[in-house]
Amino acid sequence: MKPGPEYYSTQRWRIIRSLVIKRDNHKCQQCNADEIHALLHVHHFSYENVGTSREKDDCTTLCQKCHDKLHEEYNQRIGKLSDEETNKRIDLAYKYLLSPEFLAFNGKRNIAEFM
Ligand SMILES: [Zn+2]
Ligand SMILES: [Zn+2]
Repeated sequence: MKPGPEYYSTQRWRIIRSLVIKRDNHKCQQCNADEIHALLHVHHFSYENVGTSREKDDCTTLCQKCHDKLHEEYNQRIGKLSDEETNKRIDLAYKYLLSPEFLAFNGKRNIAEFM
């Protein structure tokens, strides 16, 4: 379940966030930018495990630029779909975007290929 905005100011999220960034060696998992050169965000590629001990497995570290880009591409693709269809595709697309296969292409493949 997607958490509301208030979730991101809880102690729980602060802890998960710092664990994810530490696990990802303080680098954007898309372009490798580090904390010195970029503002790091933690992105949920699935909301399935929010509130459970597995939540951080569904999170990844992205710089602000890569994170914004991902959400933008997403909104463009899914803007015209029903909520139910959108949720299905969000899950699939986020999983795909963060898969080693996709990352190996260094973000050059278009999200349209699999939607
Ligand atoms: Zn990045
Ligand atoms: Zn995100």
